[in-house]
Amino acid sequence: MEGTRVTAREIAKAVRDGADPGLWARPSGERAASNLWNAFRPFDRAAIEAQARVVNRAGRLAGVPVVLKDNLADEGQPCGCSSRILEGYVAPYTATCVARLRAEGAIIVGRSNMDEFAMGSSTENSAYGSARNPLHERRVPGGSSGGSAAAVAGGVVPLALGSETGGSVRQPASFCGIVGFKPTYGRISRHGLVAFASSLDIVSPFALDTRDAALVAEVMSGHDPSDSTTLREPVGDWVGACELGVKGLRVGVLVEGEGEGVEPGVLACVAEAVESLSRQGAVVSRVALPSTRLALAAYCVIAPAEAASNLARFDGLRYGPRAQASTLGDLYVQNRGRGFGPEVQRRILLGTFSLSAGWAEQYYVRAQRARARITADMESALQEVDVLVSPTSPTVAFELGARSRDPLSMYMADILTVPASLAGLPAISVPCGLSEGLPVGLQLTGRRCDEATVLRVATAATHSGSGPTA
Ligand code: GLN
Repeated sequence: MEGTRVTAREIAKAVRDGADPGLWARPSGERAASNLWNAFRPFDRAAIEAQARVVNRAGRLAGVPVVLKDNLADEGQPCGCSSRILEGYVAPYTATCVARLRAEGAIIVGRSNMDEFAMGSSTENSAYGSARNPLHERRVPGGSSGGSAAAVAGGVVPLALGSETGGSVRQPASFCGIVGFKPTYGRISRHGLVAFASSLDIVSPFALDTRDAALVAEVMSGHDPSDSTTLREPVGDWVGACELGVKGLRVGVLVEGEGEGVEPGVLACVAEAVESLSRQGAVVSRVALPSTRLALAAYCVIAPAEAASNLARFDGLRYGPRAQASTLGDLYVQNRGRGFGPEVQRRILLGTFSLSAGWAEQYYVRAQRARARITADMESALQEVDVLVSPTSPTVAFELGARSRDPLSMYMADILTVPASLAGLPAISVPCGLSEGLPVGLQLTGRRCDEATVLRVATAATHSGSGPTA
């Protein structure tokens, strides 16, 4: 920008000093004086300056401060997944997506609080206490990437990374009034992302608008030899796509997104956004996809089954504060007692059960069949329309504690986000107004590898005047 020259070091310093002095808790475990919305996890302050000194000034993200969810590896930094079982663990290498951001000049300035191992919809399952919603401190920020959403919505950083398995970026983006963008499964490398459910997991960005989200996703996307599931399809100009408008695009309003349990205030905001798309030249129709009603049930079998397999490695031997234990035996005893929290235990039990002999046919195999059907139905609907529209979440941000004792009601928060996760399709949540004074998210889902169209419609939807909450 002409006339507003700042150096990367100045930005880094401003982020570091301008924020609450206790914001960047030390990895030594020393308690921070305070921590805004409990959104952050320990990060080494010295690393901020070290990065600023060598920043790529010609990069597309030169000097831009970014916060990482605590399940993304960054060499030399703690990577704890907000779990006691990983307390003291320091990442020995850097995630591909993080390396790609740095190569474009981004500066990693912090790590964010999350639901333990990304299991949850409110960030209340963190071993370090709930994060809070910066727009309303008695409400949850959503989850599982709630800390990253709060960091952006609260104005600490313009960009943050989260991870999605069943909606963990779109849903907190919706609750916090910002943009959360999940590209097609396989677009972004999972190398360096701690695994939850490998057939669903994808790194996804939070941003204040669609162009920033498009830029970060574009920079991170593309084939990675370290992750054999990454796609080889060309990425394309996602940032440019944001400017193309919606004239002539076919927008299908999902009937299932108007169902029982969706708050009237949420429906009103979504209807207004659809109205605005139609005024801008989109062709609006209604689309029924009854099989998506099976999505949450299928997800609740498949995600825990994969999690049970992935989390078996955290046996107290291989991860944790190696330095403090003199023998593997000591380490085991030391970490075992601190084990997993209740939600992670629940998922491991559920997953182990649904894969066990005698039950697998009834649960796991049926869930896989449902997943195949949902995918086929969504893909065929997307032959008739260019994007599907629904609310991101049936409700606005709920109160802290309101659902934490009732896992089923917590899982319901993802009822509208899991279909795109199971089908691996690109989807975004953009703010579309307020209900009860709290942000409402509009979800757009597109064809496989057609992120460009999703971003076109999302950008137009936020142009409507009912857009981002000021
Ligand atoms: N809330 C969902 C769950 O608890 C999704 C989590 C996620 O996307 N990581 O599994």
